[in-house]
Amino acid sequence: MTQNYPEAKNAWRIAIVEDDSGIRNFIRTAVEQEGWIAESVGSASGAIALMEQNPPDLIVLDLGLPDMDGSTLIRIIRKSLTIPIVVLSARTQEHEKVNALDCGADDYLTKPIGGSELKARLRAHLRRKIGPLQQIQLGTILIDLTTRSVVKSGCVVHLTPIEFKILSVLCSKIGRVVSQRELLNEVWGIEHSECAQYLRIHVGHLRAKIEDKPAMPKYIITELGVGYRLADEC
Ligand code: CA
Repeated sequence: MTQNYPEAKNAWRIAIVEDDSGIRNFIRTAVEQEGWIAESVGSASGAIALMEQNPPDLIVLDLGLPDMDGSTLIRIIRKSLTIPIVVLSARTQEHEKVNALDCGADDYLTKPIGGSELKARLRAHLRRKIGPLQQIQLGTILIDLTTRSVVKSGCVVHLTPIEFKILSVLCSKIGRVVSQRELLNEVWGIEHSECAQYLRIHVGHLRAKIEDKPAMPKYIITELGVGYRLADEC
């Protein structure tokens, strides 16, 4: 197995799934004004390829796509990813909204929408994604999910983007077991969901940086045969 890992990014990555180039550019501009990275595709198949390659942190999704209805695409995405899905559609009927939300969308916005409102909605979903815990103290370690920094006993710990992403996924479910598959999906994408070795290597590096005794970890606990758990009792 090669170690040619896709890179995790520090800025939020927003996928824009929209076949109208004018609206796509409008959303892209809003996303870039917030300092986030926009990746746009014009079809459901393009969106699926993007999700498999490197899942974004949030998706803005049109329902009227040329190759598949957006609601079907939401169902497909939801089989493997929990990231926020924000529908932006010209369809205003209540049953359309209910259907998209029941398929797994987190929000439903109707066109036309102002750039300021769109940005505020996306900020709200990204805040929720981080959750109320923006800073987590684990023993002598302080993890700041907003600034993406880790400090141990007063010293900055330099993590790679992949290591930070693993840590932040564990933080989002602190005290609970996160399966290997879920970690692989969130960090590398669906196509790498069977590559447990990737995870073992990077968790090893992460432990070497944050644990007092990496061979006897007390923060990142292995749950044999299942995955990992970030201990909340340190
Ligand atoms: Ca459309």
